[in-house]
Amino acid sequence: MAARILVVEDEEKLARFLELELIHEGYEVEKAFDGRSALDKALAEDFDLILLDVMLPQLSGMEVLRRLQHEKSVPVILLTARDAVMDKVAGLDAGAVDYITKPFAIEELLARIRVVMKQHFRQAAALAPAAAPQEDVLTWGALRYDEKRHQVTYGGQEIVLSNREFLMLGILLRNKDLVLSRETLLEKVCGYEYYGETNIVDVYVRHLRAKIDEVFGVRMIQTVRGAGYVIRSE
Ligand code: CA
Repeated sequence: MAARILVVEDEEKLARFLELELIHEGYEVEKAFDGRSALDKALAEDFDLILLDVMLPQLSGMEVLRRLQHEKSVPVILLTARDAVMDKVAGLDAGAVDYITKPFAIEELLARIRVVMKQHFRQAAALAPAAAPQEDVLTWGALRYDEKRHQVTYGGQEIVLSNREFLMLGILLRNKDLVLSRETLLEKVCGYEYYGETNIVDVYVRHLRAKIDEVFGVRMIQTVRGAGYVIRSE
């Protein structure tokens, strides 16, 4: 059965172009031209992927993404006209799996779609059998990282982290004393290689430091100049 993609784009010419290209690649395609009808369609039907423009009439792409995340687990690639790192981070934090900045080459978008599809199906397959046992609770000083409960506390005080901040902290804690490069962290946090966007890693480290180091007066994540980041054993 062909994978189904919902294309949400208010520029109808671009939407039509994407539709033709995707059909040519063997996907089944539905279109929506505004945020409201996109959300309705996405909630009413099952899609394997949603291509979601950020700047949309009625409901913005970010708003559609936020509302969708509460209801459904479907991978979303954002089409963004803006190139600010913060927008990308906001989009990824809101649950998008990837973004592509307009104008983009269609080949690049198709390549990203293939990666997301592969990952999506691999995850679905991995979730089916019992996952390999892994330590559920990691600690660093008074910090307690509970994988299963998706909870982080410091001296019993809860720290609220976004999904990707949580993921990144877990990777660093699980690899104590190992310096992880920005590329490695990016790949692990975003699920695959994301060439050239390693400044996103710095943004997450900044967030983690603001929420942990600055609040509790510790130095947990250390920068190793030219190499990456590490959490050392206490
Ligand atoms: Ca638009």
